Amino acid sequence: MEKEEPALSCVQCGTLNCHKHESHYPKFCLTTNMDETMLEASLAHYQEEGIDRTIALSAAEIEGKYYGTLTRAEEILAFARRIGAKKVGIASCVGLAGESKTFAKILEVHGFTPIMAICKVGSRDKTEIGLQEAQKIRPETFEPLCNPILQAQYLNAAQTELNVIMGLCVGHDSLFIKYAEATTTYLVVKDRVLGHNPVAALYTTGSYYKKLLSPKEY
Ligand code: SF4
Repeated sequence: MEKEEPALSCVQCGTLNCHKHESHYPKFCLTTNMDETMLEASLAHYQEEGIDRTIALSAAEIEGKYYGTLTRAEEILAFARRIGAKKVGIASCVGLAGESKTFAKILEVHGFTPIMAICKVGSRDKTEIGLQEAQKIRPETFEPLCNPILQAQYLNAAQTELNVIMGLCVGHDSLFIKYAEATTTYLVVKDRVLGHNPVAALYTTGSYYKKLLSPKEY
């Protein structure tokens, strides 16, 4: 079977000219081949008064003012203040409960009201949604399912104004983001192998993680 040619996109770009205007745009460039109305429609979100504008301006202002000087935890404090969020939801992995409590303390010290929902909230066994015993980490034991939808619903009911994800699993985070009503950002991206620093695998594809560049079915 013939391999389908990938559509050319920013993946194949060698100039990144949209960033600094110091080079040229490639023929297939997304910027120069863009439907102008689509671009204008995206800009309208930022230009009209509302939460999109507030978020975009806050994010850019923090980036400019504190570039390279604030940790992510501090940036979240700065962001929460700028978007007017007082009640901050923490959607935490149970494995990061300790770190989440520390972050809750930091929020409190800075005048915010933290409210946390742990991934195991509801505490029902994984088999209740169709997982087989053999697919558990420890088969034949009670293994509570992560319930990101309930986490989101709990924080929605608490009327949080900003949610912070603390290491939810891949996919569980997707469901949380799908069901959460408040603006959501990350403090911790889970990577059980790399100490929650997933980019380390990408940094080391020339050495320790060369294996990622060979096909394998996961
Ligand atoms: S938008 Fe154009 S210039 Fe920017 S990275 Fe994509 S292809 Fe390159």
